[in-house]
Amino acid sequence: MAAKVIDKKDLLTSIDYEHLPKTGVFDTPIDFRPGTWCYPAKPEILEKLHFPNPRVWSPADVDWKLPENWKEIVHNGFKERLEKYRSFKVFLDICVRCGACADKCHYYIGSGDPKNMPVLRAELLRSIYRNDFTMAGKILGKLNGARVMEEDVLKEWFLYFYQCSECRRCSLYCPYGIDTAEITMMARELLQLVGVNINWIMEPVSNCNRTGNHLGIQPHAFKEIVEFMCDDIEEYTGVRVNPPLNEKGHEVLFVTPSGDAFADPGIYTFMGYLLLFHHIGLDYTLSTYASEGGNFGLFTNSDTMQKLNGKMYAEANRLGAKWILGGECGHMWRVVNQYMDTMNGYMQGPQMTVPRNPITGTVFNNAAATKMVHIAEFTADLIKHGKLKLNPSRNDHIKTTYHDSCNPARGMGLLEEPRYVLKNVCNNFYEMPPQTIREQTFCCAGGSGLNNDEFMEMRMRGGLPRGNALRYVVDKHGVNNMACVCAIDRATLIPLADYWAPGVKISGLHELVANALEMEGQNEREYNLRGEAFADLMEEAE
Ligand code: SF4
Ligand code: SF4
Repeated sequence: MAAKVIDKKDLLTSIDYEHLPKTGVFDTPIDFRPGTWCYPAKPEILEKLHFPNPRVWSPADVDWKLPENWKEIVHNGFKERLEKYRSFKVFLDICVRCGACADKCHYYIGSGDPKNMPVLRAELLRSIYRNDFTMAGKILGKLNGARVMEEDVLKEWFLYFYQCSECRRCSLYCPYGIDTAEITMMARELLQLVGVNINWIMEPVSNCNRTGNHLGIQPHAFKEIVEFMCDDIEEYTGVRVNPPLNEKGHEVLFVTPSGDAFADPGIYTFMGYLLLFHHIGLDYTLSTYASEGGNFGLFTNSDTMQKLNGKMYAEANRLGAKWILGGECGHMWRVVNQYMDTMNGYMQGPQMTVPRNPITGTVFNNAAATKMVHIAEFTADLIKHGKLKLNPSRNDHIKTTYHDSCNPARGMGLLEEPRYVLKNVCNNFYEMPPQTIREQTFCCAGGSGLNNDEFMEMRMRGGLPRGNALRYVVDKHGVNNMACVCAIDRATLIPLADYWAPGVKISGLHELVANALEMEGQNEREYNLRGEAFADLMEEAE
Protein backbone atom coordinates (compact mmCIF):
# COMPACT_ATOMS: atom_id res chain seq x y z
CA MET A 1 0.00 0.00 0.00
CA ALA A 2 1.31 3.46 -0.87
CA ALA A 3 2.31 5.71 2.04
CA LYS A 4 0.09 8.71 2.62
CA VAL A 5 1.70 11.80 1.09
CA ILE A 6 2.75 14.23 3.77
CA ASP A 7 0.92 17.54 3.84
CA LYS A 8 3.02 20.24 2.14
CA LYS A 9 2.87 22.62 5.10
CA ASP A 10 3.90 19.85 7.51
CA LEU A 11 6.75 18.92 5.20
CA LEU A 12 8.07 22.47 5.03
CA THR A 13 7.81 23.17 8.75
CA SER A 14 9.54 19.89 9.59
CA ILE A 15 12.77 20.92 7.85
CA ASP A 16 15.24 22.31 10.34
CA TYR A 17 18.75 23.02 9.09
CA GLU A 18 19.90 24.81 12.23
CA HIS A 19 19.19 22.55 15.16
CA LEU A 20 21.26 19.42 14.78
CA PRO A 21 20.30 16.30 16.75
CA LYS A 22 21.76 16.39 20.28
CA THR A 23 23.24 12.92 19.81
CA GLY A 24 26.34 12.32 17.68
CA VAL A 25 25.91 11.28 14.08
CA PHE A 26 26.48 7.59 14.72
CA ASP A 27 24.46 7.59 17.95
CA THR A 28 21.32 9.16 16.51
CA PRO A 29 18.72 6.40 16.23
CA ILE A 30 17.41 5.60 12.77
CA ASP A 31 13.73 6.09 12.05
CA PHE A 32 11.99 3.66 9.70
CA ARG A 33 8.81 5.66 9.32
CA PRO A 34 6.57 4.88 6.33
CA GLY A 35 7.25 6.98 3.28
CA THR A 36 11.02 6.99 3.76
CA TRP A 37 12.00 3.46 2.73
CA CYS A 38 11.24 1.07 -0.07
CA TYR A 39 9.75 -2.41 0.20
CA PRO A 40 12.24 -5.30 0.14
CA ALA A 41 12.58 -7.65 -2.81
CA LYS A 42 10.11 -10.51 -2.87
CA PRO A 43 11.76 -13.91 -2.26
CA GLU A 44 10.52 -15.40 -5.55
CA ILE A 45 12.18 -12.54 -7.44
CA LEU A 46 15.54 -13.18 -5.79
CA GLU A 47 15.18 -16.92 -6.34
CA LYS A 48 14.63 -16.41 -10.06
CA LEU A 49 17.82 -14.36 -10.21
CA HIS A 50 19.78 -16.75 -7.95
CA PHE A 51 20.48 -13.86 -5.58
CA PRO A 52 21.36 -14.59 -1.94
CA ASN A 53 19.06 -14.88 1.06
CA PRO A 54 15.57 -14.80 -0.45
CA ARG A 55 12.99 -14.45 2.37
CA VAL A 56 10.03 -12.44 3.56
CA TRP A 57 11.19 -9.56 5.73
CA SER A 58 10.49 -5.90 6.41
CA PRO A 59 12.81 -3.01 7.32
CA ALA A 60 10.36 -2.23 10.14
CA ASP A 61 11.07 -5.66 11.72
CA VAL A 62 13.65 -6.07 14.47
CA ASP A 63 14.95 -9.28 12.92
CA TRP A 64 16.03 -8.87 9.29
CA LYS A 65 16.75 -12.61 8.97
CA LEU A 66 20.31 -12.07 7.84
CA PRO A 67 22.60 -15.01 7.14
CA GLU A 68 24.42 -16.21 10.27
CA ASN A 69 27.81 -15.12 8.91
CA TRP A 70 26.55 -11.85 7.43
CA LYS A 71 29.37 -9.78 8.95
CA GLU A 72 31.98 -11.98 7.32
CA ILE A 73 30.15 -11.78 3.97
CA VAL A 74 30.00 -7.98 4.10
CA HIS A 75 33.64 -7.70 5.21
CA ASN A 76 34.89 -9.96 2.44
CA GLY A 77 32.71 -8.17 -0.13
CA PHE A 78 34.09 -4.84 1.03
CA LYS A 79 37.68 -6.13 0.74
CA GLU A 80 37.05 -7.51 -2.73
CA ARG A 81 35.64 -4.21 -3.96
CA LEU A 82 38.48 -2.16 -2.47
CA GLU A 83 40.90 -4.34 -4.42
CA LYS A 84 38.86 -4.29 -7.60
CA TYR A 85 37.88 -0.62 -7.81
CA ARG A 86 40.70 1.84 -7.24
CA SER A 87 38.26 4.77 -7.34
CA PHE A 88 36.29 3.31 -4.43
CA LYS A 89 39.34 3.20 -2.19
CA VAL A 90 40.42 6.69 -3.27
CA PHE A 91 36.96 8.12 -2.56
CA LEU A 92 37.02 6.60 0.92
CA ASP A 93 40.55 7.86 1.64
CA ILE A 94 40.63 11.41 0.37
CA CYS A 95 37.60 13.18 1.80
CA VAL A 96 38.79 16.06 3.97
CA ARG A 97 35.28 16.72 5.31
CA CYS A 98 35.34 20.26 3.96
CA GLY A 99 31.55 20.25 3.72
CA ALA A 100 31.35 21.72 0.22
CA CYS A 101 28.92 18.95 -0.73
CA ALA A 102 26.88 19.13 2.49
CA ASP A 103 23.96 21.24 1.29
CA LYS A 104 23.94 20.08 -2.34
CA CYS A 105 21.81 16.97 -1.99
CA HIS A 106 18.11 17.37 -2.70
CA TYR A 107 17.24 14.84 0.02
CA TYR A 108 19.11 16.92 2.59
CA ILE A 109 17.50 20.13 1.34
CA GLY A 110 14.07 18.56 1.61
CA SER A 111 14.57 16.72 4.91
CA GLY A 112 17.19 18.60 6.93
CA ASP A 113 18.43 15.15 8.05
CA PRO A 114 22.23 15.49 8.46
CA LYS A 115 22.74 11.88 7.29
CA ASN A 116 21.43 13.00 3.93
CA MET A 117 24.41 15.31 3.56
CA PRO A 118 26.57 13.50 1.00
CA VAL A 119 29.62 13.73 3.26
CA LEU A 120 27.79 12.04 6.13
CA ARG A 121 26.08 9.52 3.88
CA ALA A 122 29.54 8.39 2.78
CA GLU A 123 30.78 8.42 6.40
CA LEU A 124 28.27 5.67 7.17
CA LEU A 125 30.39 3.39 4.99
CA ARG A 126 33.71 5.12 5.56
CA SER A 127 33.50 4.54 9.32
CA ILE A 128 33.48 0.77 8.74
CA TYR A 129 36.26 1.10 6.17
CA ARG A 130 38.41 2.87 8.76
CA ASN A 131 37.76 0.22 11.37
CA ASP A 132 38.28 -2.79 9.14
CA PHE A 133 40.86 -1.66 6.62
CA THR A 134 43.03 1.20 7.99
CA MET A 135 45.74 1.18 10.63
CA ALA A 136 44.67 4.54 12.10
CA GLY A 137 41.11 3.32 12.46
CA LYS A 138 42.22 0.09 14.11
CA ILE A 139 44.42 1.94 16.63
CA LEU A 140 42.38 5.10 17.29
CA GLY A 141 38.91 3.67 16.81
CA LYS A 142 36.17 6.23 17.48
CA LEU A 143 38.72 9.06 17.67
CA ASN A 144 39.46 8.37 14.01
CA GLY A 145 35.80 8.17 13.05
CA ALA A 146 35.87 4.38 12.98
CA ARG A 147 33.10 2.10 14.20
CA VAL A 148 32.45 -1.59 14.37
CA MET A 149 29.98 -3.27 12.01
CA GLU A 150 26.73 -4.11 13.78
CA GLU A 151 23.20 -4.86 12.65
CA ASP A 152 22.14 -1.25 13.31
CA VAL A 153 24.88 -0.05 10.97
CA LEU A 154 23.61 -2.31 8.21
CA LYS A 155 20.08 -1.02 8.79
CA GLU A 156 21.38 2.53 8.58
CA TRP A 157 23.11 1.70 5.29
CA PHE A 158 19.84 0.38 3.91
CA LEU A 159 17.90 3.48 4.94
CA TYR A 160 20.38 6.06 3.68
CA PHE A 161 21.85 4.36 0.62
CA TYR A 162 18.31 3.91 -0.59
CA GLN A 163 17.74 7.60 0.13
CA CYS A 164 20.41 8.49 -2.44
CA SER A 165 19.29 8.60 -6.06
CA GLU A 166 22.88 8.34 -7.35
CA CYS A 167 22.35 11.66 -9.12
CA ARG A 168 25.98 12.86 -8.69
CA ARG A 169 25.04 16.47 -7.98
CA CYS A 170 27.23 16.43 -4.88
CA SER A 171 30.28 15.29 -6.86
CA LEU A 172 30.08 18.44 -8.96
CA TYR A 173 30.94 20.57 -5.92
CA CYS A 174 33.56 18.32 -4.34
CA PRO A 175 37.05 19.82 -4.83
CA TYR A 176 38.41 16.26 -4.99
CA GLY A 177 35.78 14.92 -7.35
CA ILE A 178 34.53 12.35 -4.85
CA ASP A 179 31.54 10.65 -6.38
CA THR A 180 29.13 9.77 -3.59
CA ALA A 181 26.92 8.01 -6.14
CA GLU A 182 29.70 5.45 -6.63
CA ILE A 183 29.96 5.01 -2.87
CA THR A 184 26.22 4.38 -2.82
CA MET A 185 26.61 1.86 -5.64
CA MET A 186 29.23 -0.01 -3.63
CA ALA A 187 27.10 0.08 -0.47
CA ARG A 188 24.14 -1.33 -2.38
CA GLU A 189 26.36 -4.10 -3.78
CA LEU A 190 27.40 -5.02 -0.24
CA LEU A 191 23.79 -5.04 0.92
CA GLN A 192 22.89 -7.31 -2.02
CA LEU A 193 25.36 -9.90 -0.74
CA VAL A 194 23.22 -10.52 2.35
CA GLY A 195 19.83 -10.19 0.64
CA VAL A 196 19.06 -6.61 1.63
CA ASN A 197 17.59 -4.97 -1.45
CA ILE A 198 14.38 -3.41 -2.75
CA ASN A 199 11.67 -4.85 -4.91
CA TRP A 200 11.28 -1.83 -7.17
CA ILE A 201 14.79 -2.55 -8.45
CA MET A 202 14.92 -6.33 -8.32
CA GLU A 203 11.60 -6.99 -10.04
CA PRO A 204 12.53 -4.89 -13.10
CA VAL A 205 15.91 -6.63 -13.15
CA SER A 206 14.19 -10.01 -13.07
CA ASN A 207 11.73 -8.97 -15.78
CA CYS A 208 14.52 -7.64 -17.95
CA ASN A 209 16.44 -10.84 -17.50
CA ARG A 210 13.43 -12.83 -18.65
CA THR A 211 11.78 -10.70 -21.34
CA GLY A 212 14.34 -8.04 -22.28
CA ASN A 213 12.50 -5.18 -20.61
CA HIS A 214 11.81 -3.96 -17.07
CA LEU A 215 8.06 -4.21 -17.35
CA GLY A 216 8.06 -7.84 -18.39
CA ILE A 217 6.27 -7.05 -21.67
CA GLN A 218 6.37 -10.19 -23.80
CA PRO A 219 7.19 -9.99 -27.52
CA HIS A 220 3.61 -10.38 -28.77
CA ALA A 221 2.38 -7.74 -26.29
CA PHE A 222 5.17 -5.34 -27.30
CA LYS A 223 4.14 -5.79 -30.94
CA GLU A 224 0.50 -5.08 -30.08
CA ILE A 225 1.43 -1.97 -28.11
CA VAL A 226 3.38 -0.62 -31.06
CA GLU A 227 0.44 -1.35 -33.37
CA PHE A 228 -1.93 0.52 -31.01
CA MET A 229 0.41 3.47 -31.15
CA CYS A 230 0.44 3.35 -34.94
CA ASP A 231 -3.38 3.36 -34.92
CA ASP A 232 -3.42 6.42 -32.63
CA ILE A 233 -0.87 8.21 -34.78
CA GLU A 234 -3.01 7.58 -37.83
CA GLU A 235 -6.15 8.78 -36.06
CA TYR A 236 -4.58 12.04 -34.89
CA THR A 237 -2.33 12.89 -37.83
CA GLY A 238 -3.76 10.98 -40.80
CA VAL A 239 -0.37 9.34 -41.38
CA ARG A 240 0.09 5.57 -41.19
CA VAL A 241 3.51 4.53 -39.92
CA ASN A 242 4.72 0.94 -40.15
CA PRO A 243 7.74 0.47 -37.88
CA PRO A 244 9.78 -2.66 -38.64
CA LEU A 245 10.03 -5.07 -35.71
CA ASN A 246 12.83 -7.62 -35.33
CA GLU A 247 13.75 -7.22 -39.01
CA LYS A 248 17.19 -8.09 -40.23
CA GLY A 249 19.23 -5.96 -42.59
CA HIS A 250 18.35 -2.44 -41.45
CA GLU A 251 21.07 0.11 -40.79
CA VAL A 252 19.89 1.21 -37.34
CA LEU A 253 18.58 -0.61 -34.28
CA PHE A 254 16.41 1.70 -32.20
CA VAL A 255 16.25 1.02 -28.45
CA THR A 256 14.31 3.06 -25.92
CA PRO A 257 13.16 2.56 -22.30
CA SER A 258 10.16 0.27 -22.00
CA GLY A 259 8.45 2.87 -19.81
CA ASP A 260 7.77 4.69 -23.06
CA ALA A 261 5.86 1.71 -24.39
CA PHE A 262 3.72 1.38 -21.32
CA ALA A 263 2.39 4.51 -19.69
CA ASP A 264 1.45 8.16 -20.14
CA PRO A 265 3.14 10.40 -21.01
CA GLY A 266 6.00 8.20 -22.24
CA ILE A 267 3.89 6.61 -24.98
CA TYR A 268 3.50 10.00 -26.67
CA THR A 269 7.28 10.24 -26.83
CA PHE A 270 7.42 6.77 -28.36
CA MET A 271 4.79 7.85 -30.91
CA GLY A 272 6.93 10.92 -31.54
CA TYR A 273 9.94 8.75 -32.47
CA LEU A 274 7.83 6.69 -34.87
CA LEU A 275 6.50 9.77 -36.61
CA LEU A 276 9.97 11.31 -36.85
CA PHE A 277 11.50 8.16 -38.35
CA HIS A 278 8.68 8.00 -40.90
CA HIS A 279 9.21 11.69 -41.74
CA ILE A 280 12.87 11.16 -42.61
CA GLY A 281 12.55 7.63 -44.02
CA LEU A 282 15.03 6.16 -41.56
CA ASP A 283 16.22 2.64 -42.30
CA TYR A 284 15.70 1.15 -38.82
CA THR A 285 14.14 -1.63 -36.82
CA LEU A 286 12.72 -1.99 -33.34
CA SER A 287 13.37 -5.14 -31.36
CA THR A 288 11.21 -7.12 -28.96
CA TYR A 289 14.34 -8.62 -27.41
CA ALA A 290 16.30 -5.39 -26.91
CA SER A 291 13.05 -3.76 -25.86
CA GLU A 292 14.60 -1.85 -23.00
CA GLY A 293 17.30 0.80 -22.95
CA GLY A 294 17.11 1.36 -19.21
CA ASN A 295 19.25 -0.78 -16.98
CA PHE A 296 18.30 -1.35 -13.34
CA GLY A 297 21.44 -3.46 -13.11
CA LEU A 298 23.18 -0.12 -12.51
CA PHE A 299 21.38 0.01 -9.16
CA THR A 300 22.05 -3.66 -8.38
CA ASN A 301 25.63 -4.65 -9.13
CA SER A 302 28.13 -4.39 -11.96
CA ASP A 303 27.65 -7.99 -13.16
CA THR A 304 23.91 -7.49 -13.56
CA MET A 305 24.44 -4.14 -15.28
CA GLN A 306 26.84 -5.77 -17.75
CA LYS A 307 24.50 -8.65 -18.47
CA LEU A 308 21.44 -6.49 -19.11
CA ASN A 309 23.39 -4.00 -21.20
CA GLY A 310 24.92 -6.68 -23.40
CA LYS A 311 21.60 -7.51 -25.09
CA MET A 312 21.79 -4.33 -27.17
CA TYR A 313 24.97 -5.42 -28.92
CA ALA A 314 23.76 -9.02 -29.13
CA GLU A 315 20.60 -7.86 -30.89
CA ALA A 316 22.42 -5.42 -33.17
CA ASN A 317 24.61 -8.34 -34.24
CA ARG A 318 21.68 -10.73 -34.75
CA LEU A 319 19.82 -8.20 -36.88
CA GLY A 320 22.93 -6.95 -38.68
CA ALA A 321 22.47 -3.33 -37.57
CA LYS A 322 25.43 -1.00 -38.07
CA TRP A 323 24.75 1.20 -35.08
CA ILE A 324 22.23 1.82 -32.32
CA LEU A 325 20.04 4.86 -31.87
CA GLY A 326 18.90 5.27 -28.27
CA GLY A 327 15.75 6.95 -27.02
CA GLU A 328 15.06 9.41 -24.25
CA CYS A 329 16.27 7.74 -21.08
CA GLY A 330 18.34 8.77 -18.08
CA HIS A 331 20.33 5.98 -16.51
CA MET A 332 20.49 4.09 -19.82
CA TRP A 333 22.84 6.81 -20.99
CA ARG A 334 24.92 6.77 -17.82
CA VAL A 335 25.55 3.08 -18.45
CA VAL A 336 26.19 3.63 -22.15
CA ASN A 337 28.45 6.63 -21.72
CA GLN A 338 30.43 5.53 -18.70
CA TYR A 339 30.55 1.74 -18.72
CA MET A 340 29.30 0.14 -21.93
CA ASP A 341 32.48 0.17 -23.97
CA THR A 342 34.58 -1.11 -21.06
CA MET A 343 32.07 -3.79 -20.06
CA ASN A 344 30.73 -4.98 -23.38
CA GLY A 345 32.68 -3.29 -26.16
CA TYR A 346 34.11 -6.69 -27.07
CA MET A 347 30.60 -7.80 -28.09
CA GLN A 348 30.34 -5.38 -31.02
CA GLY A 349 30.05 -7.38 -34.21
CA PRO A 350 32.23 -6.70 -37.27
CA GLN A 351 29.23 -5.11 -39.06
CA MET A 352 29.07 -2.28 -36.50
CA THR A 353 30.50 1.05 -37.62
CA VAL A 354 30.94 4.56 -36.26
CA PRO A 355 27.41 6.00 -36.41
CA ARG A 356 26.70 8.24 -39.38
CA ASN A 357 23.41 10.06 -39.81
CA PRO A 358 22.19 8.70 -43.16
CA ILE A 359 20.09 11.81 -43.78
CA THR A 360 22.72 14.50 -43.11
CA GLY A 361 25.99 12.59 -43.45
CA THR A 362 27.14 13.71 -40.00
CA VAL A 363 29.53 11.23 -38.41
CA PHE A 364 29.07 10.95 -34.64
CA ASN A 365 32.69 10.53 -33.64
CA ASN A 366 31.69 11.01 -30.00
CA ALA A 367 29.94 7.64 -30.33
CA ALA A 368 32.87 5.88 -32.03
CA ALA A 369 33.49 3.63 -29.02
CA THR A 370 29.93 2.63 -28.13
CA LYS A 371 28.27 2.90 -31.58
CA MET A 372 25.28 4.42 -29.83
CA VAL A 373 23.79 7.85 -30.51
CA HIS A 374 21.31 9.72 -28.33
CA ILE A 375 18.09 10.67 -30.10
CA ALA A 376 18.43 14.32 -29.01
CA GLU A 377 21.82 14.55 -30.76
CA PHE A 378 20.36 12.87 -33.81
CA THR A 379 17.33 15.16 -34.03
CA ALA A 380 19.38 18.29 -33.33
CA ASP A 381 21.60 17.30 -36.26
CA LEU A 382 18.55 16.85 -38.50
CA ILE A 383 17.21 20.29 -37.58
CA LYS A 384 20.60 21.94 -37.99
CA HIS A 385 20.76 20.59 -41.54
CA GLY A 386 17.21 21.67 -42.35
CA LYS A 387 15.95 18.12 -42.77
CA LEU A 388 12.76 18.49 -40.75
CA LYS A 389 9.68 20.40 -41.84
CA LEU A 390 8.53 22.02 -38.63
CA ASN A 391 5.60 24.14 -37.57
CA PRO A 392 6.41 25.19 -33.97
CA SER A 393 3.25 27.29 -33.73
CA ARG A 394 1.33 24.04 -33.28
CA ASN A 395 2.87 24.01 -29.79
CA ASP A 396 1.94 27.63 -29.05
CA HIS A 397 -0.41 26.62 -26.23
CA ILE A 398 2.69 25.45 -24.40
CA LYS A 399 5.03 27.56 -22.32
CA THR A 400 7.75 25.08 -21.60
CA THR A 401 10.80 24.78 -19.46
CA TYR A 402 13.38 22.00 -19.64
CA HIS A 403 14.43 19.68 -16.84
CA ASP A 404 17.96 18.39 -17.33
CA SER A 405 17.76 14.75 -16.32
CA CYS A 406 20.72 13.99 -14.05
CA ASN A 407 22.31 11.22 -16.08
CA PRO A 408 22.25 12.76 -19.59
CA ALA A 409 23.34 16.10 -18.09
CA ARG A 410 26.03 15.09 -15.59
CA GLY A 411 26.70 11.61 -16.92
CA MET A 412 27.22 12.52 -20.58
CA GLY A 413 27.15 16.33 -20.92
CA LEU A 414 23.98 16.40 -23.02
CA LEU A 415 23.06 20.04 -22.36
CA GLU A 416 22.73 21.95 -25.64
CA GLU A 417 21.11 19.45 -27.98
CA PRO A 418 17.77 19.03 -26.17
CA ARG A 419 17.49 22.81 -25.76
CA TYR A 420 18.26 23.35 -29.43
CA VAL A 421 15.54 20.89 -30.41
CA LEU A 422 13.05 22.34 -27.94
CA LYS A 423 13.60 25.91 -29.16
CA ASN A 424 12.99 24.78 -32.72
CA VAL A 425 9.71 23.05 -31.98
CA CYS A 426 8.28 25.43 -29.34
CA ASN A 427 8.06 29.19 -29.57
CA ASN A 428 7.83 29.71 -25.80
CA PHE A 429 10.80 28.38 -23.84
CA TYR A 430 11.90 29.56 -20.39
CA GLU A 431 14.86 28.37 -18.35
CA MET A 432 14.64 27.68 -14.65
CA PRO A 433 17.22 29.51 -12.47
CA PRO A 434 20.82 28.80 -13.54
CA GLN A 435 21.90 27.06 -10.32
CA THR A 436 19.16 24.44 -10.86
CA ILE A 437 19.78 23.45 -14.48
CA ARG A 438 22.45 21.99 -16.77
CA GLU A 439 25.23 20.29 -14.72
CA GLN A 440 23.73 21.73 -11.55
CA THR A 441 20.33 20.24 -12.23
CA PHE A 442 18.29 18.90 -9.33
CA CYS A 443 17.12 15.31 -9.34
CA CYS A 444 13.47 14.27 -9.69
CA ALA A 445 14.12 12.41 -6.39
CA GLY A 446 12.91 9.13 -7.83
CA GLY A 447 15.98 8.02 -9.77
CA SER A 448 18.05 4.88 -9.13
CA GLY A 449 15.01 2.73 -8.44
CA LEU A 450 13.36 5.01 -5.87
CA ASN A 451 10.38 5.91 -8.07
CA ASN A 452 7.89 3.85 -6.12
CA ASP A 453 4.79 4.88 -4.20
CA GLU A 454 5.92 3.71 -0.77
CA PHE A 455 8.83 6.17 -0.89
CA MET A 456 6.56 9.13 -1.67
CA GLU A 457 7.40 11.27 1.37
CA MET A 458 11.10 11.24 0.53
CA ARG A 459 10.29 11.82 -3.14
CA MET A 460 8.35 14.95 -2.27
CA ARG A 461 11.04 16.08 0.15
CA GLY A 462 13.81 15.43 -2.38
CA GLY A 463 11.64 17.06 -5.04
CA LEU A 464 11.56 20.36 -3.19
CA PRO A 465 14.48 22.07 -5.01
CA ARG A 466 13.27 21.02 -8.47
CA GLY A 467 9.69 21.93 -7.53
CA ASN A 468 10.80 25.29 -6.18
CA ALA A 469 12.65 26.16 -9.40
CA LEU A 470 9.66 25.04 -11.43
CA ARG A 471 7.30 27.13 -9.33
CA TYR A 472 9.55 30.13 -9.99
CA VAL A 473 9.07 29.94 -13.78
CA VAL A 474 5.38 29.20 -13.37
CA ASP A 475 4.93 32.40 -11.36
CA LYS A 476 7.27 34.49 -13.51
CA HIS A 477 6.44 33.30 -17.04
CA GLY A 478 3.28 31.23 -16.76
CA VAL A 479 5.13 28.00 -17.65
CA ASN A 480 2.68 25.12 -18.07
CA ASN A 481 4.95 22.34 -19.36
CA MET A 482 8.23 20.76 -18.33
CA ALA A 483 9.99 18.72 -21.01
CA CYS A 484 12.62 16.11 -20.18
CA VAL A 485 14.59 13.30 -21.82
CA CYS A 486 14.23 10.54 -19.24
CA ALA A 487 11.52 7.89 -18.85
CA ILE A 488 11.80 7.86 -15.05
CA ASP A 489 11.46 11.64 -15.03
CA ARG A 490 8.38 11.44 -17.18
CA ALA A 491 6.80 9.31 -14.44
CA THR A 492 8.23 10.94 -11.31
CA LEU A 493 7.89 14.58 -12.29
CA ILE A 494 4.11 14.31 -12.57
CA PRO A 495 3.46 13.88 -8.81
CA LEU A 496 6.34 16.26 -8.09
CA ALA A 497 4.79 18.99 -10.23
CA ASP A 498 1.30 18.30 -8.83
CA TYR A 499 2.71 18.71 -5.33
CA TRP A 500 5.06 21.67 -5.75
CA ALA A 501 3.86 23.46 -8.90
CA PRO A 502 0.30 22.36 -9.75
CA GLY A 503 -0.89 22.87 -13.30
CA VAL A 504 2.39 21.95 -15.03
CA LYS A 505 2.28 19.04 -17.48
CA ILE A 506 5.25 16.78 -18.17
CA SER A 507 6.30 15.78 -21.66
CA GLY A 508 9.10 14.11 -23.49
CA LEU A 509 11.07 16.04 -26.09
CA HIS A 510 9.99 13.99 -29.11
CA GLU A 511 6.33 14.28 -28.28
CA LEU A 512 6.73 18.01 -28.93
CA VAL A 513 8.90 17.38 -32.00
CA ALA A 514 6.21 15.18 -33.53
CA ASN A 515 3.44 17.65 -32.81
CA ALA A 516 5.40 20.26 -34.75
CA LEU A 517 6.29 18.00 -37.71
CA GLU A 518 4.66 18.75 -41.05
CA MET A 519 4.09 15.26 -42.41
CA GLU A 520 3.47 14.36 -46.02
CA GLY A 521 -0.14 13.21 -46.40
CA GLN A 522 -1.19 14.54 -43.01
CA ASN A 523 -4.75 15.57 -42.12
CA GLU A 524 -5.73 18.99 -40.76
CA ARG A 525 -3.69 18.20 -37.63
CA GLU A 526 -6.42 19.24 -35.23
CA TYR A 527 -5.16 16.94 -32.49
CA ASN A 528 -1.89 16.42 -30.69
CA LEU A 529 -0.50 12.95 -30.01
CA ARG A 530 -2.49 12.80 -26.76
CA GLY A 531 -5.69 13.14 -28.78
CA GLU A 532 -6.34 16.62 -27.38
CA ALA A 533 -7.70 19.27 -29.74
CA PHE A 534 -5.15 22.03 -30.37
CA ALA A 535 -7.97 24.59 -30.48
CA ASP A 536 -9.15 23.62 -26.97
CA LEU A 537 -5.63 23.69 -25.62
CA MET A 538 -5.05 27.14 -27.10
CA GLU A 539 -8.27 28.42 -25.58
CA GLU A 540 -7.29 26.98 -22.19
CA ALA A 541 -3.89 28.66 -22.38
CA GLU A 542 -5.28 32.11 -23.20
S1 SF4 B 1 24.49 11.38 -5.45
FE1 SF4 B 1 22.72 12.79 -5.39
S2 SF4 B 1 21.29 11.78 -3.98
FE2 SF4 B 1 23.29 10.84 -3.64
S3 SF4 B 1 24.22 12.03 -1.99
FE3 SF4 B 1 24.90 12.98 -3.92
S4 SF4 B 1 23.43 14.62 -4.28
FE4 SF4 B 1 22.50 13.23 -2.78
S1 SF4 C 1 33.08 18.10 -0.85
FE1 SF4 C 1 34.33 16.23 -1.16
S2 SF4 C 1 36.03 16.45 0.28
FE2 SF4 C 1 34.48 17.94 0.91
S3 SF4 C 1 33.23 16.84 2.43
FE3 SF4 C 1 32.22 16.52 0.47
S4 SF4 C 1 33.06 14.59 -0.30
FE4 SF4 C 1 34.44 15.29 1.34
